[in-house]
Amino acid sequence: MVGYCPICGKPVYFGERKRSLGRDYHPLCLKCQKCKRQLTSGQHAEYDEKPYCPHCYLKMFGPKGTAFALVTHSQWHPHVMSECLFSV
Ligand SMILES: [Zn+2]
Ligand SMILES: [Zn+2]
Repeated sequence: MVGYCPICGKPVYFGERKRSLGRDYHPLCLKCQKCKRQLTSGQHAEYDEKPYCPHCYLKMFGPKGTAFALVTHSQWHPHVMSECLFSV
């Protein structure tokens, strides 16, 4: 089955797809839509069907938005604090 990349709208074929948060991306498309940082599948936030790094996500939408960033973050650290998001 061919999925469509939510970023560029082109088909994503099995061999090249990068699956994250239930969507298939091209490896090059899976980057923060704000700072263009390359993202790791499963370790980024999502808003309006677009991927963001947790840092930009929190900056733009705050910790009260849809909580992928916080879920992800709580897997990195036992607490949820914006200032340690990229201490890794
Ligand atoms: Zn794409
Ligand atoms: Zn970012």
